[in-house]
Amino acid sequence: IGTVVGLDIGGSKTRGIKWLDGTAVADTSGGSANVQNVSRAQARSNLEGVFATLQGGSVARVVVGSGGIDTAEDANALRELIQPLAPDAVVSVVHDTRLLLAAAGCSTGIAVIAGTGSAAWGTNGEDQARAGGWGYLLGDEGSGYWFAREAVRYSLERMNDGLRADELTKALLKSCGLLGPEGLIALFHGDAGREFWASKSPIVFECAAAGHTGALDMILQAGADLASLAARCAGQLNIEGPIVLGGGLGMNQPTLQTAMRIALASRGLDTLQVLTQDPVFGALQLASH
Ligand code: BGC
Repeated sequence: IGTVVGLDIGGSKTRGIKWLDGTAVADTSGGSANVQNVSRAQARSNLEGVFATLQGGSVARVVVGSGGIDTAEDANALRELIQPLAPDAVVSVVHDTRLLLAAAGCSTGIAVIAGTGSAAWGTNGEDQARAGGWGYLLGDEGSGYWFAREAVRYSLERMNDGLRADELTKALLKSCGLLGPEGLIALFHGDAGREFWASKSPIVFECAAAGHTGALDMILQAGADLASLAARCAGQLNIEGPIVLGGGLGMNQPTLQTAMRIALASRGLDTLQVLTQDPVFGALQLASH
């Protein structure tokens, strides 16, 4: 299959790998090129950065999985940004959930991403089903951005109720360089961006591990919401799984995995598996088909 470049474009970063006859020869990360989050100019410059590190020799195939690809127009717009960077290549653009299932080696199943954003998509080989993945303004439940927003809302509610900042609020304020919760409102509506907020989500997990019940409730809610996305795909496709969980939070936060397992079990589903290799490896699988 010659030289293949795979890109996984999430809400916070772009991971790129170049393979020569199936062997990875270059691996890099750059800023997000998801045009739902960053301007086209920013996306172009982040992609240029990634390709500058990966290039050398002509590329036969570029397979891109990206968040925010909901229509053929979305896919075309991204393809137009990438084609000039690999002029000789056949460039295919798919939704980032497709990479996940391919990386897990599954042709049937349901992919759930809990990263900066969230989404679920599945296929039974013939039909496809999708749930969520509408972006941060419309949904993205159980995502890194969602966790940060919940933590901000939690802190503001306590402020409104005249309660003192607790450990979760203190950790959040410290990490944002703020003195009081009221500052969170302007910061949230400013241009800090999705990546900034998603990077705060580990605070919720640290507080939950230290016994903070409010933080634990957020994780249980996220697990239930992600399970519900997966179950909606499973129901439509008439399959039980495998349900493959990926994304930074999905792959790295065991409490979220457990919360999702519990919520799936209550729906009679016990097929959750956590992706063990980066989704970008799915690009090589997709290029070979
Ligand atoms: C995007 C989806 C994407 C998901 C996970 C969401 O914000 O809207 O398209 O699949 O994040 O990356």
